[in-house]
Order: sequence, then structure tokens, then C-alpha cells
Amino acid sequence: KICVIGACNMDLISYAPRLPKLGETLPGTRFQMGFGGKGANQAVMAARLGAQVSLVAKLGQDLFGENTLANLRANGIDTRFIQVTDESFTGVAPIWVDESTGNNAIIVALGANELLSPQDVAAAQEVIEAADVLVCQWECPLETNLAALRLASQAGIRTIFNPAPAREHLPDEAYRLSDIFCPNESETETLTGLPVSTLEQAETAARVLLGRGAARVILTLGERGSLLVTPDQVHHEPAPAVKAVDTTGAGDAFVGSLAYFIARGFSLTAAMARANQIAAISVQSPGTQSSFPSAADLPPELLA
Ligand code: ADP
Repeated sequence: KICVIGACNMDLISYAPRLPKLGETLPGTRFQMGFGGKGANQAVMAARLGAQVSLVAKLGQDLFGENTLANLRANGIDTRFIQVTDESFTGVAPIWVDESTGNNAIIVALGANELLSPQDVAAAQEVIEAADVLVCQWECPLETNLAALRLASQAGIRTIFNPAPAREHLPDEAYRLSDIFCPNESETETLTGLPVSTLEQAETAARVLLGRGAARVILTLGERGSLLVTPDQVHHEPAPAVKAVDTTGAGDAFVGSLAYFIARGFSLTAAMARANQIAAISVQSPGTQSSFPSAADLPPELLA
């Protein structure tokens, strides 16, 4: 059982031969909607592997909120602790993609996600305490994450904190409440102010995060896989060599899979290796949730 605290967004992706100038209207070539938000993505990934997942989140009373709920339910996620508020709108991310370069411009309006509160976490106490693993990210207010991490740690539940998107300052309490602190390279650079270009630099930066109180750090390193650093262990798990077509959501595929394997009792290194494999599958097809595999798509030995 996994409990995820986190954001739901609707991605609205328009494609054009170039990005529009200020004040310009430009004909687009294609449009696509996609379900996103790191909380929703990680919950969907874990559920597709077979976990029982509860998502604690907040949506607006609008069409995107209705579609989001339907998508989460279609993925078998427990939505009893998702609140619908009339005080804001469902998180939305209009994305422009320049087809000639692949560059994009994004406005994320987090809306109802910013209203997810410590009270909402308290209302979800029963599912937090019933979980094997609690997962949170940094798209929701920090106070909300801290409330969830405190509840989980008091109940002896394992916690994974994915500090994404990162800001420079994260209070030490968030590190101390993280059994597994799981940032990517750029988040690690933001949090530590250190470069993370080589494995040696990654280990040095991870030790800074351990020094702030995290029990274990797992850095995701894109095509180089992931790196576990604890006070007495360093383990690099390379990613399989694949042809990446769209890496959006790779981090969410990794974190959702990691939570699943840890909830099942796999060792950290075994869980990392499997999460690498699944995230590497996700980068080989376009989209975010649409690129996440289900248990039935995977070789049985990966899940055994
Ligand atoms: P984010 O999506 O947050 O930037 P990363 O880029 O670190 O996160 O990717 C997360 C995980 O996805 C990596 O640890 C790795 O397992 C997998 N991954 C990402 N990019 C690739 C790639 N090009 N080839 C193989 N695996 C990849």
C-alpha cells in the first residue's frame, strides 16, 4: 500500500513551427492534452505496477478536475481523499512546443494544488497510517508535505521525498523526515549549490544532503541511472542503454516504481535497479503517463 501526497495538473500542449512573439497569434499544427502533476504521475506509475495507491490531492470544480478524477479511477487509484474545491481551479500547464527545435515554453498555474493543506493531510490520516510507503514531492505547499511526513514518521511508515521542483532552501526538518531523499541532478544542484556532472560530484553533493538529516539519498542521474548514498554505503546503478524519444516524466516513473518495490519489501539496490529499468522504458515512448508501462507489459522477472 502506497500513499501519495501531491499535485494533479492538466497539460495542454500546442505544437507550432516556432513559438509566437508577444502579441502574435500563430496557427498551430497539433494539440494534445495529457494528465500530469508529479503526485498524480507517481501514483499512476505505482498503481500500474499493481500497488494499492491512495492519492491525497486537491482539484477545482471544473472539467479538468472531473477528467483527472476519472483518469485516476481508471488507473485503479483510491480517490477518497481527493478534495474538490470551488475556491480555485484544477492545476493546468499550457505548453507551447517549437517543432523545429523541440524547445518549449510553459506556464504552470498550480491552482487548487496550492490549497492542499495540513488539514487535508490530517483528514487522510487513516490512509497514511495504513500505507507501507508515503511519497511526496514539492509541487504542493511545504507545510502540507511536512505534516504528512511527520504523521508517517510517527507511525513508523517509510517516507520518500522527491524535492521537485526544487528551491534553494529546504528546512532541515524535511531532510530529517525523509527515509529516502530522491532528487534529480538539477534539483541536487539547486539544493546544494554544488555541480553534479560526474559521479564523484554526485556523491559529494549527496553527502551534503545526508549531512542535513536525510537517512538515505537516491539521486537520479538521467541516462546514467541512479546513485544511492547512505552514511555507510555508495551504490551506482547504471540505467539500461536505450534510445530516448521523450524523457518527460522519467523521474516520476522512477519514484513511483521505487515506492512500489520498496513497499513490496525489495532491498534498496534491487528497487533502484528495477525503477531504472521501468523509467528507461518510459523514455522510449512519447508523453508522460502514456509512456508508463503496466505490470502486464513487463517481463515477469522484473516484477518477481
Ligand atoms: P527527471 O525526469 O526528474 O529529470 P532523470 O532525468 O534523472 O529525472 O531520470 C529519472 C530516471 O529515468 C533515471 O534515473 C533513469 O533510470 C531513467 N532515465 C532517464 N533518462 C534516461 C535515458 N536517456 N536512458 C535510460 N534511462 C533514463
